[in-house]
Amino acid sequence: MRIDLHTHSTASDGTVAPAGVVEAAADAGLDVLALTDHDSAAGWAEATARAAELELTLVPGMEISTRHEGAGVHLLGYVLDPTYPPLVEELDRVLAGREARLPGILAGLAGAGVVITEQEVLDQVGEAPAIGRPHVADVLVARGFAADRDDAFQTWLEPGRPGFVSRYATATADMIRLVVEAGGVAVIAHPWGRASRRVLDLAALEGLTSSGLTGLEVDHHDHTTSDRATLRSIAESLDLVVTGSSDYHGAGKVGHALGSETTAPEQYERLLAAADLNASGSGRQVPAVVGR
Ligand code: AMP
Ligand code: ZN
Ligand code: FE
Ligand code: FE
Repeated sequence: MRIDLHTHSTASDGTVAPAGVVEAAADAGLDVLALTDHDSAAGWAEATARAAELELTLVPGMEISTRHEGAGVHLLGYVLDPTYPPLVEELDRVLAGREARLPGILAGLAGAGVVITEQEVLDQVGEAPAIGRPHVADVLVARGFAADRDDAFQTWLEPGRPGFVSRYATATADMIRLVVEAGGVAVIAHPWGRASRRVLDLAALEGLTSSGLTGLEVDHHDHTTSDRATLRSIAESLDLVVTGSSDYHGAGKVGHALGSETTAPEQYERLLAAADLNASGSGRQVPAVVGR
C-alpha cells in the first residue's frame, strides 16, 4: 500500500487541478492520497469525486499556516469539519493576512525595479482562496525576472529579499486545538524544513503534544537523513505518528513527485484511529475518507 499524505493543487499553489492530482496519484501507483491545500478545503469536493471514480482513497486535509516562537510552522489537519465556526473564523484571518500582504510584496519588488501588477498575480491565483508567494513567483518567471519558482524565491521572495512581507498566522498550539475541536487530527508538516529555524525541539513538541498533536511528518524532501533519524526518535518518545509525503505542487516544485516520500501503512492506520477518536470526541460531522 502506497500512501502520500501531503499534496497541493490549484486550490492553493499547486499547478494541477484537484481532479488532476488524483489522476496523477493513481498513475503513480498510489493507493491513498491526502489533498492538503493551504488554509482551505476548496479542493476537497472535486478531488473526492474523482477519487471515488478511480477507487483511490482520498483523505481530505489542509496545510495551515501557524507560528511558534516567531517561526512559521505548517500544520497538516486531516478529516476535520471545515465548517466548524471557530476554525472558519481563524482560517479567514489567515487568508485575509495573505491578501493584505500582496500590496507590500508588490511595493517591495517595485522598489527593486521589478514592476508587476496585482492583476497579474490574481490571474495566477485563479479560484484559490489562499494567495501565496508561489503565485507571485510564477508572474516573476513569466515576466523573465526569474528562471523558475525556486529562483524567484531565492532572489525576490524569501526573508531578507525585496519582496518578502510577513503575514498573520495562528499560534500553533491554538490551531492544533481548533483542528481537534473540529474533529480532525493534526500533524506537523516538515518540522525541520527550510523556514523552520528548528524551534520545534523535543520540549516544544512535547508541549504541542499536550495540546492534541497526533503526528510528525518525518519523511519529507527538506529533511536530511540525520534529521529524519532524530525526528523519528522524538516521535517515538512522544508516541507521535510518523508520516511521510511528497509535498507535491505539480510543476511548481522540483524533487517533489507524487509518491516520492510515503507513509507506512501501520502509521496511516494509527492516524485514522486517532482521527476516529477525535471525531467522536468532538461531536462534529467530519468528512468521509472516500475509498477507506
Ligand atoms: P507562502 O504560502 O506565501 O508563505 O509561500 C510558501 C509556499 O511557497 C509553500 O507552499 C512552499 O512550498 C513554497 N515555497 C517556499 N520556498 C520555495 C522555493 N524555494 N521554491 C518553490 N516553492 C517554494
Ligand atoms: Zn505550497
Ligand atoms: Fe509547507
Ligand atoms: Fe505543502
